[in-house]
Amino acid sequence: MMTCFETETNLPRYVAGKLSKGEREGLRQHLAVCAGCSERAAGMQHAIQTIRDSFTELPEPSAQDVPEPLLRAVMTLVSSHAAAGPSAPPPI
Ligand SMILES: [Zn+2]
Repeated sequence: MMTCFETETNLPRYVAGKLSKGEREGLRQHLAVCAGCSERAAGMQHAIQTIRDSFTELPEPSAQDVPEPLLRAVMTLVSSHAAAGPSAPPPI
């Protein structure tokens, strides 16, 4: 079973589809039992999907592969929102 730390570390690559089959399974198992990580994964997946959708507007096929630095930026963003707690106002 993965720890929350390991899960958070692997989340960006998970949502980008870059984990190995074994890593992905381990992460899914953790998400199934951990509400906090599951919520973070959903938020990140939504963010990545939004980025992907905007990338598909571009003609270059390689642009659909979300770059690693962008993933990290998204992860930081999602994590800081999660850390702010549910009572924080939604970001505009
Ligand atoms: Zn967790």
